[in-house]
Amino acid sequence: MTQPQDNLTPFQSVTWCFDRAADQLKLSNDLRELMRRPWRELRVEVPVRLDNGTLKVFTGYRIQHNGARGPYKGGIRFDPSADEDEVRALASLMTWKTALADIPYGGAKGGVQCDPTQLSEGEMNRLTRRYTQNIAHLLGPQRDIPAPDLGTNQREMAWMMDAYGQMYGHTPSIVTGKPIELGGSYGREAAPGHGAVMVMKTWAALNRYALPGKSVVVQGFGQVGSRIARLMAEEGCIVVAVSDVRGGVYNPKGLDMADLLRHNATAGTVRGFRGADAVTNAEILTLPCDILAPAAVGEVLNSSNADRVKAALILEGANHPTTPGADAVFNQRGATVLPDILVNAGGVVVSYFEWAQNIQQFRWSEDRVNQELRVVMERATQEVVRRAQAAQVTLREAAFQIGVERVGRAIELRGFV
Ligand code: GLU
Repeated sequence: MTQPQDNLTPFQSVTWCFDRAADQLKLSNDLRELMRRPWRELRVEVPVRLDNGTLKVFTGYRIQHNGARGPYKGGIRFDPSADEDEVRALASLMTWKTALADIPYGGAKGGVQCDPTQLSEGEMNRLTRRYTQNIAHLLGPQRDIPAPDLGTNQREMAWMMDAYGQMYGHTPSIVTGKPIELGGSYGREAAPGHGAVMVMKTWAALNRYALPGKSVVVQGFGQVGSRIARLMAEEGCIVVAVSDVRGGVYNPKGLDMADLLRHNATAGTVRGFRGADAVTNAEILTLPCDILAPAAVGEVLNSSNADRVKAALILEGANHPTTPGADAVFNQRGATVLPDILVNAGGVVVSYFEWAQNIQQFRWSEDRVNQELRVVMERATQEVVRRAQAAQVTLREAAFQIGVERVGRAIELRGFV
């Protein structure tokens, strides 16, 4: 196996992981051909009348990577970085993530290349609706079900449901991550962070790793990062640094979570939090700590900083935060990397519960959602740890092996090959 280089695009990096799993599994060439590339890709131009009267045309995508195990599933990213290659990479990660969690979906992702911070609420509404109309012919409760991702949340999901409903009639199960009042599920918003900490705890129990007293750094203080920080503190960890897009704060003695959450709620950023030093988003990754949780954007851990990362354990809250080159550095020095397709699967797992509730027209209690989420996350973590031991591979390789194996089996059973 050749040593990974860091000149790969995001999709090439995920494909690199797929190829490695396929080699280890001795997958047939036929199956590889069917699993390597997205099954369908749609690019749409999305015209939006801005508040100042001018017309701006944004480019959007919906990429359906693999549908062997069920309807396509995956979020919608509104971000300047959401180009074709990035969306393709994220779509393929969804294929392996849903298979690893063993929920009955394929993998997809959508995105619009835009900067939501520069758009008014009205502009965002028009953009979301036009994008939804333009991809609607691919969607359906049994075809493809979007969800939130970076730059989108409950608000955009409500607009998507409404725009789809205007064309096809009221269809709550067309999208997940909706507001509770419109058929969203209890526990969905908390799910990615919640699931990440469930994975961490399950791994810790299996490895007799004591969480209390461990120092933690979290990059990203959105839905995922802020919850990871809070829940890790509840486990007795010392959260020494956190950051958001505007920068970070660091105190080696630990940040008071209640104070920090209050500060963030009023200031809209963690920056400026008293009793902590300012750090940049680059610096935060190389601070001394036991556990590093990148929970923001992709490829932040790469060949330029991997050898300066001090954490012994990396909890990947974000999608593809580690390049294959950095991954190799971490593996060589014996660091443990809990991989994205396992760690952040909680979001799509509770999306599955939301979809199931919508189809049944029945609502589960928050306790039931969290209980069922725990069952899935613990089982998936145990499977990954067992596979890594049995096959003598890394946790990421084990996670990909399980996902790839399941998708391959579904393809065989359907009689494609
Ligand atoms: N965007 C989230 C992810 O990357 C959730 C996707 C979903 O719920 O369908 O896993």
